[in-house]
Amino acid sequence: MAHNQPFIILGDSTQRTQGRDAQSMNIAAGKAVAESVRTTLGPRGMDKMLVTSSGDVIITNDGATILKQMDIEHPAAQMIVEVSESQEEEVGDGTTTAAVIAGQLLAKAEKLLEDDVHPTTIVEGYSEANQIAQEAITSHILNETLDDKTLQKVATTSMTGKGTGDVSPSELSKIIVDAVKHVTKSGKVNRDDIHLQTRVGASSSATELVKGFILESERAHEHMPKSVSKGKVLILDMDLEIRDPEVDAEFTITSVDQLTAAFEAEEAELRDYADTISKAGVNVVFCTEDIDNRVAGFLSDKDILAFEDVSSDDAKALSRATGAMRVATLHNLSNEDLGTVDSIEIQKFNDDELTFVEAGSKAEAVTVFLRGGTEHIVDELERAVSDGLDVVTAAVESGEVVPGAGVIEIGIASRVRSVAASIEGRKQLAVEAFADAVEVIPRTLAENAGLDQIDTLVDLRAANDSGRAGIIAKGESGELDDPVKHGILDPAAVKREAIDSATEAATMIIRIDDIIAAS
Ligand code: ADP
Ligand code: MG
Repeated sequence: MAHNQPFIILGDSTQRTQGRDAQSMNIAAGKAVAESVRTTLGPRGMDKMLVTSSGDVIITNDGATILKQMDIEHPAAQMIVEVSESQEEEVGDGTTTAAVIAGQLLAKAEKLLEDDVHPTTIVEGYSEANQIAQEAITSHILNETLDDKTLQKVATTSMTGKGTGDVSPSELSKIIVDAVKHVTKSGKVNRDDIHLQTRVGASSSATELVKGFILESERAHEHMPKSVSKGKVLILDMDLEIRDPEVDAEFTITSVDQLTAAFEAEEAELRDYADTISKAGVNVVFCTEDIDNRVAGFLSDKDILAFEDVSSDDAKALSRATGAMRVATLHNLSNEDLGTVDSIEIQKFNDDELTFVEAGSKAEAVTVFLRGGTEHIVDELERAVSDGLDVVTAAVESGEVVPGAGVIEIGIASRVRSVAASIEGRKQLAVEAFADAVEVIPRTLAENAGLDQIDTLVDLRAANDSGRAGIIAKGESGELDDPVKHGILDPAAVKREAIDSATEAATMIIRIDDIIAAS
């Protein structure tokens, strides 16, 4: 047997890239993706217009939305997209920040690799620096009590730079804080109880908070009432139709009398549904299954409003909004099964109807009703309000906020650099590189505000040695001042997650030195 014969373990079409080539390729791809969202960062960030494969146009400033729409194929680049996705899921804001920091960590790693620092040394250095960064964030937590005013500032900070139509972020922030406060019970925010509903056709300043739920279904019968005040609510998980006979049987009807009798028996059964519902004092029925037309007619005759085929999610929200239980039978219907509403109003919007189910302070679910002149405005408004709701949730649950506008990143870099001095060997270089990488945030905020990056960074470092200064958007440009004074506050959780997930993705990419791609 010839022993110089090579083993063939990969198929012909498999492409393999190894060592530094593999690293360079991955790093370049990751950097490119991060770079693509950099110009959208901060209050002076620009928007992007994305055209989807089906021709839909999305105009947005939201990092996660941009990256999601970009149809990225390269696996390393995809990891940066995942950073912003997990950021969106975990804390809802800071998606651009996370992607941009990950990109910088890769850029700095590239330099270190060129200088022959071993990848595992870089990975260790970055992980240690991440720990120091987390401590730095803790030490920057502000002592403010998180009253409504402060929470509104947190919401406003998360929305600046996003298009909100003609409603200002500060007006929206009041709605957002009211919504979050409404669903908070002993420090825990039931974020799932906050719903968003959108309709084009009015100025975005008509955006409002509804204490309850907005249902999209149509009434089961056109003669049913269009409004109810102070009513009782039944949520039903059964259909109001003729029950199928339990045994398959064939009846032979031999006379008209028999036919009439069969028909009357059916009618009686259907009428019985309506009578039972009416006797229980119900004014509104939300049914997750079908309602026979005749039952709808009987209910309508009794002035009862009913909806059929309500989705299970909607039924759940309606149950939270009105306090009604979900029942699957009409037997022994009791008052405890029923919910209550202050009012129900059906309103027409262009071609469709929306049903506003409001229960005031006792509603456990709320809905932000977003308005805007065009589809694009409403969509971006929805993204802005979601971010606002998420940051206020994060702030309420942890009680921790930190100064924004680049201050926290300057603070992190400074602390990481000072610890780096005591770290031996080449790892020190990696820890220092991490500090430089995090400063991409203030540098980018400066650049997007039209300031000189290097000069501003030098000024910021000096100003934060003794005091507190960030890049405050002012008119066309920006100035250095205390962000807390300007109400620019971010939840600590957003910064923690951004640095953490950026480090994780960057180190994962750096570790790879062999790419085996099947075609
Ligand atoms: P991300 O997707 O990372 O949240 P943003 O475009 O929302 O990106 O920018 C967030 C950054 O902008 C944060 O560092 C925040 O502190 C900062 N920021 C927000 N509002 C202002 C402001 N008015 N002036 C300066 N910086 C701000
Ligand atoms: Mg943001």
